[in-house]
Amino acid sequence: QKTREESLYIVNDWARRWFEEQLWQTEEGRAVGLVYFRERSFTDATIRKFQLGYSPTNPQALLNAANQAGHNLEYLLELGLVKRSEKGELYDAFRERVIFPIVDRAGRVAGFAGRIMNSQAKAAKYINSPECPIYNKSKILYGLYHARKSIAKADMCFLAEGYTDVISLYQAGIENVVASSGTSLTESQIRLIRQLTGRVAILFDGDPAGIKASQRGIDMFLREDFDVRVLLFPEGHDPDSFARQHSSSVVQEYISENLQDFIRFKAQFLATGPEATPTQKVQAARELLESIAHLRGELKQSIYLRDTAQILGIDQTILSTELRTIQARLQ
Ligand code: ATP
Ligand code: MN
Ligand code: MN
Ligand code: MN
Repeated sequence: QKTREESLYIVNDWARRWFEEQLWQTEEGRAVGLVYFRERSFTDATIRKFQLGYSPTNPQALLNAANQAGHNLEYLLELGLVKRSEKGELYDAFRERVIFPIVDRAGRVAGFAGRIMNSQAKAAKYINSPECPIYNKSKILYGLYHARKSIAKADMCFLAEGYTDVISLYQAGIENVVASSGTSLTESQIRLIRQLTGRVAILFDGDPAGIKASQRGIDMFLREDFDVRVLLFPEGHDPDSFARQHSSSVVQEYISENLQDFIRFKAQFLATGPEATPTQKVQAARELLESIAHLRGELKQSIYLRDTAQILGIDQTILSTELRTIQARLQ
């Protein structure tokens, strides 16, 4: 007797294989989906490794195939693979999109993301499976299944923003990479990483959203006692687009040479130089101290206090008094 969860996994795994079949073995999939992935410079080996697929234009293609395979409609609806319109008509949730299966750390298919290929279209760029008993997006890290061993071995985890960043970095030989995917970073995701390493490097997009998300991520990781470094890609780039334009060795070199300690990373967006007004400097000091306040251990704090004093040109003992005030407020 199968549990409900086991049945859901079976249907998702069937759907994953069906999407892959559409990509590789149908004329539409090859002409549209495979061409799309190849234009993004994904190799066939990469496409297979990440089990990428294609959902056809026909709005009932999956529904019909699932019926033929004898899958229960109830499960298809619960997994969000099939939807019911207001008029009661059933249709496929993913249509004319390339498919990224989202597997959990055990390699089981928990859900899917579908990316639109036409950048002109008004529809959302990515759509995701809805939450269900086997898909809790706040507890899944995209890529973790493939990255686990290299994260532990390198004692370091790269965290990117998107599916394609994970895939492109992996293809460039950087295998210890995951993405939070479809949600902003959560405590549960951080704990998944913490089981493998205490060192993280945040590789986010070089746009305002990426900067903001990095800042938020820093304090969350510090709270869990991580060593945190950050790298922003050049404006307009993300790890994927950068990796597409440069060889693997250049990508690896760029990353190792541009990783910044979190304090220096934060400081670059604050007014700290000689031209800063006193008010701006106080503001900058408070922001940096706020992160230091999340650090565990006085020794660590004092090392970063010294850095901050140097960056701001403010006496360390004064900063240390202010730090205690901030810490008292956080508790
Ligand atoms: P691509 O390179 O294919 O454009 P990306 O990963 O660079 O994808 P971003 O716009 O940088 O896309 O978004 C980062 C991540 O945020 C995506 O990988 C996806 O997980 C999520 N995301 C982006 N847009 C949406 C959306 N409209 N709905 C849900 N999730 C989204
Ligand atoms: Mn972005
Ligand atoms: Mn991006
Ligand atoms: Mn991108």
